[in-house]
Amino acid sequence: MERNRTRRFFLGRANAALAGLGLAGSRLQAADTRHAPAGEDYYEKLGVTKIINAAGTYTALTASIMPPSVQAAVARAAKHPVRLHELQTAAGEYLARQLKCEAALVTAGAASALTLATAAAITLGNRTAMHNIPTDVTGLKNEVIAQKSHRYEYDHAIRNCGAKFVEVVTLADYEAAFTERTVMTNFFNAAEEGQIGREDWIRVAHRHGVPCLNDAAADVPPISNLWNYTKMGFDLVAFSGGKGMRGPQNAGLLLGRKDLIAAAAQNNSPNSDTVGRGMKVSKEQIVGMVAAVDWFLSQTDAGMEGEFRRRADRIAAQLKTIPTLEARVVIPNVAANAVPHLLLRYDTQRVKIRPVEVMTELRKGTPSIELNPQTGKKAGAGLPSDENTIVVGVWMLEPGEELIVARRLKEILGKAASA
Ligand SMILES: *Cc1c(COP(=O)(O)O)cnc(C)c1O
Repeated sequence: MERNRTRRFFLGRANAALAGLGLAGSRLQAADTRHAPAGEDYYEKLGVTKIINAAGTYTALTASIMPPSVQAAVARAAKHPVRLHELQTAAGEYLARQLKCEAALVTAGAASALTLATAAAITLGNRTAMHNIPTDVTGLKNEVIAQKSHRYEYDHAIRNCGAKFVEVVTLADYEAAFTERTVMTNFFNAAEEGQIGREDWIRVAHRHGVPCLNDAAADVPPISNLWNYTKMGFDLVAFSGGKGMRGPQNAGLLLGRKDLIAAAAQNNSPNSDTVGRGMKVSKEQIVGMVAAVDWFLSQTDAGMEGEFRRRADRIAAQLKTIPTLEARVVIPNVAANAVPHLLLRYDTQRVKIRPVEVMTELRKGTPSIELNPQTGKKAGAGLPSDENTIVVGVWMLEPGEELIVARRLKEILGKAASA
């Protein structure tokens, strides 16, 4: 109200001032509508380059674009204050029903879910411990068992609670690793190696009364993974909200056992003097995450795969004339990013540009395009790439962008072929 009055006053004065110049009305009106309802383009204002994401759900590339229904739900939620505890609880109950688990918590991303899961396991039933971790773990269980091949860059999220890792390789190692200080086990769901399978992993831990966390951050689709791992017996499962589910980039899910989820929530913002206080989850993140789950559950695996294959085929079709180029569509053979990717392999003696150089050209071009980071690299992330292979991640493209990617690839490769 107050703001509207001020604005009307300002516009009135401005119009009066412009009237003398014969400019009143139209131009100012146009300037005014630019701010609503779409909002000002702050990328433009800040001089930030918009990109075409032919890479995938990479955090540094802002991961994903929220579908229109999710964007609208977030914008609507942003208009009203609510009681954060009430929203978080209601969202958790709703998500637990939708995702067929005991309990659910919206977190500030999957890494935050790992931290809160660990905090829950360490502090379960011990309020003082909540305030003491990570610097004072005296008398607390704080050993987390993981397979050596499941150690990764997200370990830090677990160590944030003052936890220490105990590494195992064989099943016998694992059986022998449990002590009175073991608090949790961590399973990296998309690991490319590891001798111990999920069922054995859970069985042994449960025999020792120790909860199992599964980091499945990037492991949808398939949609059913959202309940497969909790149903399998993992006590806690973490997902990233901003990756395949296309929720807010800073949202995530922690799913699982009711007592542990309740403890995770206690260790989270808005509760102060907790390890999670700096991992604030806003009403926009919570509503966006719930709306993203609704959107994701309205999709089908076959529908999504079909669309990604069509995009890959459309790009490949434009590149038929490039000498020696072979196109194939591959789904990574690990749990993460298990969607069709386009692999383009060619003879660099004939087409005189290396895939990593194509990547740079696309990045420097207009519009700026990012290719999948497996481009020009030896096999990894479940993809059979090599130094002569371009990898196009098609699943995060917006409708029609595949044609822009195809046109730019054709320009760059075509020029190199006739050089
Ligand atoms: C992306 C990822 C995370 C972190 O997810 P955020 O939602 O970005 O916090 C954690 N673990 C794995 C395996 C991931 O791929």
